[in-house]
Amino acid sequence: MFSLQMLLFLLLLHMQVATAFPTPSEEKSTTMVQDYLEKFYQLPSSRYRSARKNSTSMIVEKLKEMQRFFGLNVTGKPDAETLETMEKPRCGVPDRGDFMLTPGNPKWKHTNLTYRIINYTPQLSEADVDSAIERAFELWSHASPLRFTRISQGEPDIKIAFVQRDHGDNSPFDGPNGILAHAFQPGQGIGGDAHFDAEETWTKTSANYNLFLVAAHEFGHSLGLSHSSDPGALMYPNYAFREPSTYLLPQDDINGIQAIYGPSDNPIQPTGPSTPRTCDPRLTFDAITTLRGEIFFFRDKYFWRRHPQLRSIEFNFISLFWPALPDSIQAAYEDLDRDLVFLFKGNQYWAMNGYDLQPGYPRDISNYGFPSNVQAIDAAVYFRSKTYFFVNDQFWRYDNERQTMEPGYPKSTLSIFPGIESKVDAVFQQNYFFFFFSGPRFYAFDLQAHRVTRVDRSNRWLNCR
Ligand SMILES: [Zn+2]
Ligand SMILES: [Zn+2]
Repeated sequence: MFSLQMLLFLLLLHMQVATAFPTPSEEKSTTMVQDYLEKFYQLPSSRYRSARKNSTSMIVEKLKEMQRFFGLNVTGKPDAETLETMEKPRCGVPDRGDFMLTPGNPKWKHTNLTYRIINYTPQLSEADVDSAIERAFELWSHASPLRFTRISQGEPDIKIAFVQRDHGDNSPFDGPNGILAHAFQPGQGIGGDAHFDAEETWTKTSANYNLFLVAAHEFGHSLGLSHSSDPGALMYPNYAFREPSTYLLPQDDINGIQAIYGPSDNPIQPTGPSTPRTCDPRLTFDAITTLRGEIFFFRDKYFWRRHPQLRSIEFNFISLFWPALPDSIQAAYEDLDRDLVFLFKGNQYWAMNGYDLQPGYPRDISNYGFPSNVQAIDAAVYFRSKTYFFVNDQFWRYDNERQTMEPGYPKSTLSIFPGIESKVDAVFQQNYFFFFFSGPRFYAFDLQAHRVTRVDRSNRWLNCR
């Protein structure tokens, strides 16, 4: 559960609900786009740009570069999706091209690195800052031969400081939100140093912004890594909260640091979570549901969100929308009559009204009247006030008006839905079709004709060819 302020923040920054909010004036968005491209995509400053080649075509090219990096539709136009991405809080280091100070791919020549915390933020105790910084370095030392030692005087390899606005390195901070921090690639002097915007609210919780997470990202730059376009990577440029106490360095970042410094000294090489690749032909889903006209596809700690008209696909962390939900949801359905979405994992389930968790959840699935040997649901779908629950090769049907499981169930899935032969991973209803997902394929079951009318690859729904 989060505060109203937090909710508003999430709404404004992370959701495609642009229609519900006034869009920024064209003039303001033009300024924002230019400013963003100048900061992160080496668009020459407008003072010099007009004198060079056609500045509009240069902006279009830079916009396309940015859209490719973030996996957006490459339109070269500042569409709603692009503007929304630009408004997200992020790291101040550019996404492409040469690093601002050090060309090439510099790395530290030694593996025993020193760091020094120059000053503190008044928002956290010194012990909390020390601990966040130490744990952030540990993520990297665990995955590589690098070791980090803190010193309290003398010249370290990596200086850590909380600074604000113009602080003498040609990369001024911008006050609360926007740019949160930046760091310099390995080298002498300012090389390796990490600066944190002193005007941000720094926390050790899920409230914005968690210092450990931002510091861990910045130290990736201090060690020579650039931004990753993998949305699950620590080195993704935009801020996303993840639970610090259980945080593991993602595989993409492990691959990155090991490409520079080689494997860990540890005889057992560390591995980390990998981000599902949208157009991997083997992609499967954990659960799928409609939600107010959109379709949500769940997998691990992520979901894809498909907008019906725009056909745009957004990929994000479940925790960003629903901090109270666990990863790896197993089943989900939308109760259209009550405007609620129910999500299942193991023998627990949660009810959401849009983005709000309903009080009194999670509850136990025995509330639906399942026998005690049913400890998890594979897939669920709602149709005409009935909920269909699929477990292995059978299904139950629950009457939502009478609030009771219907008699005569479970029934064999194949006997009622001919053509659905394997275990159902996920299912949703749209236009009198049940779309069953099993492994990397989906089956369109026409509820009126009572037969499967189409079989295709699951990630066709994510616009993959
Ligand atoms: Zn960064
Ligand atoms: Zn700085």
